[in-house]
Amino acid sequence: MSNRQNTTDVILIGAGIMSATLGSLLKELVPDWEITVYERLAKAGEESSNEWNNAGTGHASLCELNYTVQKPDGSVDISKAVKVNEEFQVSRQFWSYLVNSKLIRNPRDFIASVPHMSFVHGEKDVTFLKKRFEAMSNNPLFQGMEFSDDPAKLAQWIPLMMQDRSANGPIAATRIESGTDVNFGALTRIMFDHLKSKNVGIKFKYNVDDITRTSDGLWELKVRNIDNGTVERQRAKFVFIGGGGGSLHLLQKSGIPEGKGIGGFPVSGLFMVCQNPDIVAKHHAKVYGQAPVGAPPMSVPHLDTRVIDNKESLLFGPFAGFSPKFLKTGSMFDLITSVKPHNLVTMMAAGVKNMSLTTYLIKQVMQSKEQRMEALREFIPNAKSEDWDLLVAGQRVQIIKDTAAGKGTLQFGTEVISAADGSIAALLGASPGASTAVSVMLEVIQKCFPQHVEAWEPKLKEMIPSYGVKLLSKPELIREIHSSTAQALGLNSEPPLVERTAEEVKMG
Ligand SMILES: Cc1cc2nc3c(=O)[nH]c(=O)nc-3n(C[C@H](O)[C@H](O)[C@H](O)COP(=O)(O)OP(=O)(O)OC[C@H]3O[C@@H](n4cnc5c(N)ncnc54)[C@H](O)[C@@H]3O)c2cc1C
Repeated sequence: MSNRQNTTDVILIGAGIMSATLGSLLKELVPDWEITVYERLAKAGEESSNEWNNAGTGHASLCELNYTVQKPDGSVDISKAVKVNEEFQVSRQFWSYLVNSKLIRNPRDFIASVPHMSFVHGEKDVTFLKKRFEAMSNNPLFQGMEFSDDPAKLAQWIPLMMQDRSANGPIAATRIESGTDVNFGALTRIMFDHLKSKNVGIKFKYNVDDITRTSDGLWELKVRNIDNGTVERQRAKFVFIGGGGGSLHLLQKSGIPEGKGIGGFPVSGLFMVCQNPDIVAKHHAKVYGQAPVGAPPMSVPHLDTRVIDNKESLLFGPFAGFSPKFLKTGSMFDLITSVKPHNLVTMMAAGVKNMSLTTYLIKQVMQSKEQRMEALREFIPNAKSEDWDLLVAGQRVQIIKDTAAGKGTLQFGTEVISAADGSIAALLGASPGASTAVSVMLEVIQKCFPQHVEAWEPKLKEMIPSYGVKLLSKPELIREIHSSTAQALGLNSEPPLVERTAEEVKMG
């Protein structure tokens, strides 16, 4: 067993979209920093970032109903939707920069225009959707949103979903032409290929077993070659833990106080996939519905057109489930070994509070294919079982922590946890995920390299013209970004926002 020791500027743990994004940002900001990546699998983008492990929605809150909540007075709060949309605009700008600088050759390899829609039925949900539309459609971030409760119009938008649909109760949908389907797996691989060409050392099939602080303030990683079991010790000035579901265990190993008291709750997922070209050709949209009662917000069912390797298919789900693994390729002991003395009470409190969620998830796991087909038939009334196959999706590990809302609160967002001196950071949580990778990695940069941020600002603004600006305060900039990124990425651009009166908005 060898025990070699090297020192590098930056180590990125995990070859998913997050490490790919941070590595690409840093290589543009400080090309001479030495970066090494360790990944336990044989390729980049094989866990949650893989194209078949997530839904590929460019989350911009155009259609995901869980980002807009109805307040007790009936009005709809769109503040979370605005935040998610602004974050997606940041990703679009960075990806456009990579394309314009020829660091990415062909945007069609990872992004495509696919309209985003919300679809609801029943009086209550139709009223909610209309109010959501009223709150959003005059906002420049959501320009081009249309609403309809006319079955003939809906049949034009979503013929497959309207075919053989029995008319029982009202239905309605909103649609935005300029939504996107993103192949995050391809994007991850493209970014790693680029990093490799810039001399970033990418070590596949290396598992990071341990992280410790050295007496001279560096971080030392114990890294195991999975093929032959040899162990290396690698030191770095800065470590990013981008291990996806594997991040919590690594954060715990680092021992930083900021990582104490945090737990993780794994939610597994299943999709149904259809590759029958006759059916696929009848649907071209990502259509989100309402979450079933008791379901966690990120398992809202949706029927998605996917564009993978320039070929379209349909994906339905995810059906949430329970598995104690923290990674799809993880261990059945992941959940239990994440319980430590410092998070035991928090985890127990979460366990008690989330009994009904756990029961719901276990029931979901037990569902037969035919039961899942019934859920799909809410979207495609005449769906046939033989056209759909089951596909195991990625794992999501939700954060559990003590918050103002109480002990052991389950969180549904992502969170950057970093050491006070900025020498190590980890990304925990799952949603909105890959779509917001650039904003989240900018947050890592701001938290961990505050001494450099001022000097880096001109380059950051070159890569992300809206850097440091609240987009909503600059409608002109929103229009400019929509159109320049659509052009760079080869996407449909939003129609110009036509200011409408409240009365016109109500009429739809
Ligand atoms: C069912 C589902 C649907 C989703 N849908 C969407 C969507 O529509 N839109 C969206 O934007 N996001 C979506 N997401 C979220 C998105 O996929 C994730 O947020 C994103 O891919 C996370 O990227 P990551 O780089 O953090 O993790 P990952 O892609 O999981 O990468 C982490 C890597 O770290 C490696 N690793 C872990 N531990 C170690 C270790 N000890 N040593 C070495 N390597 C290690 C793993 O092997 C893995 O390759 C979805 C996720 C799921 C599961």
